[in-house]
Amino acid sequence: MGIVIVTNKVAQQSNLSIIDQYIKNSNDINALQVEDSRLPKSKSYLKIIGIPFYPHSNHQEKLSSSEVETILKQNHIFNNISLASKPCIIKISPKSDMAIVWLDIWDIQSSQNMKLLINRCFNVGNYIATIRGANMNPGVPQCKNCWKWGHSTFSCCIQGAKCVKCNGPHKSEHHREFGWCCKANAKTNSPRLETKKGEPCSHTFKCSNCKGNHQADSNICPFWRHHFNREWHVKKYTEIHENRSQSIHSNVNSASKQ
Ligand SMILES: [Zn+2]
Ligand SMILES: [Zn+2]
Ligand SMILES: [Zn+2]
Ligand SMILES: [Zn+2]
Repeated sequence: MGIVIVTNKVAQQSNLSIIDQYIKNSNDINALQVEDSRLPKSKSYLKIIGIPFYPHSNHQEKLSSSEVETILKQNHIFNNISLASKPCIIKISPKSDMAIVWLDIWDIQSSQNMKLLINRCFNVGNYIATIRGANMNPGVPQCKNCWKWGHSTFSCCIQGAKCVKCNGPHKSEHHREFGWCCKANAKTNSPRLETKKGEPCSHTFKCSNCKGNHQADSNICPFWRHHFNREWHVKKYTEIHENRSQSIHSNVNSASKQ
């Protein structure tokens, strides 16, 4: 069982002794059975920029999360900070040699720890790193307009919308009316019936992101399962991008041979 005490001002660590004192002096409470009082904890999200992704002289070994932890331990500005999870490190962009480090830190509800750290600078070797605030949810967003990962719906660049089910150029909620699969067609091998209004489309399509047998927003999609893993997403998109440019090259090559 826990007791929550509501205060009229933001409670500080030093106020806790008042409560502990009260508990100790109360005859109705066995103080030995009561744990120390503590301030409510929350998480704050920060990112560090200006850190090299390849900090070693061979320029091949990547910055690891344990190295980041060591860097933080050696720096006095992080003295009273405890991490809520392992630091997450990604390259700023595939061609960059600089990193962004995401940190989740334990904080109190007034975000006091975060406020002390934001915009502070510190040295990492010859580099000057800067701490910035980060979004509440450091996961990778999925656009609800084109269903690609890595940008939010508000910053989508495509004209119109894509269907989450068939990837066709219509809004997902209009799939029954605009998707070819749900229209009656007598010319197909086994004549296709129209999907009735109010009934779900029973046809299957491949996910536009991973080509698996599910909708593009499904929680069994590997893109969804890794949506807290920026590194995985960056790697995946680099792979897809490379494959695409390779297939464009081979198409160009075969076209020029003809
Ligand atoms: Zn989009
Ligand atoms: Zn559709
Ligand atoms: Zn259908
Ligand atoms: Zn998928």
